[in-house]
Amino acid sequence: MRIREIRVFAVELPLLEDRYAWADGRMVERFDSTLVAVASEEGLVGWGEVCPLGPAYLPAHAEGARAGIARVAPALLGCDPRAVDRIQERMERALKGHPFVKSALDMACHDLSARAQGVPLSTLLGGPDGEAVELYRAISQDTPEAMAAAVGRWRAEGYRRFQLKVGGDPDLDIERIRAVRSVLDRGEVLVADANTGWLPHEALRVVRAVRELDLYIEQPCASLEECLIVRRASDHPMVLDEIVDSPAALLAVWRAGAADVVNLKIAKFGGLRPTRLARDLCVELGIAMTIEDSWGGDVVTAAIAHLAHSTPEAFRFSSTDFNDYVGRSVALDPPRREDGRIRSGTAPGLGLEVEEAALGPPILVVR
Ligand code: MG
Repeated sequence: MRIREIRVFAVELPLLEDRYAWADGRMVERFDSTLVAVASEEGLVGWGEVCPLGPAYLPAHAEGARAGIARVAPALLGCDPRAVDRIQERMERALKGHPFVKSALDMACHDLSARAQGVPLSTLLGGPDGEAVELYRAISQDTPEAMAAAVGRWRAEGYRRFQLKVGGDPDLDIERIRAVRSVLDRGEVLVADANTGWLPHEALRVVRAVRELDLYIEQPCASLEECLIVRRASDHPMVLDEIVDSPAALLAVWRAGAADVVNLKIAKFGGLRPTRLARDLCVELGIAMTIEDSWGGDVVTAAIAHLAHSTPEAFRFSSTDFNDYVGRSVALDPPRREDGRIRSGTAPGLGLEVEEAALGPPILVVR
């Protein structure tokens, strides 16, 4: 099996809410996503997607992803897409670093590989565990009252895990946490995600002020060292996200005892292959995980569902259905949330049929 052609599409995904806002006034009003179709000589097609959360979240941006894919894609022509380790090596030789560039191509090769074998991708990733994957809902930064009201709306849709966007003014963040915690029911989970937005002195004020409340604190500060200052002063379980961007970074967090949960975003690691490595390391090391990505639509949501569903259930903290936040579907039968949970399904590969004709002409064809 050999790769014959790679087609690249720029796809705008409108947000269903007016905007999505997080720490330090950062926000997006739409998503600029990139889809890739990797076609084999036998006529099979695999799909991948990469969608940075704007240009100011992680060191990634949509135009950079597309420029990088244009540079890397020619190196994959003639390669066996099932040899996902060799695909990663080829991409690294063509472009050092820039993991988000490689994510969509890696994802498409995984889809193609599973389709060729006639099995769902979750089977290649270890096999699904349990019935379905529990999802969280991200609550965009707003007034305390509006954020508490949003939790009520999303609970009615079946979510029981809520990720509150804080990382702003510490006094207001304390009010946000208190307002949301006060409306939660027994069994519901609250995570206050500062997205690196606090300095240690600000984070220390927040964790001390909410000490008696049951919640997780996520990525309070920018560096591991700063997060450790907060960790040592806090009783709350700690989630780390932005700084966990490679297996080596994961090991550094583990050695420092810095986190109880880590968030594995597929694009941050450079695709399913390296994210699976980090996932398997977490299982060995006893760290729970949120399996997700930096955003996306139907294709990313399917990839998350397969990787999450094949992660041992005891290690799954949460996951996410990004295609529920956007007003554009690109595929037939995309995975959809049911009662706050999602399944990876039994169809081959990622299990979705992308409606390629509806994407418009490709911005790049490599053959
Ligand atoms: Mg986060």
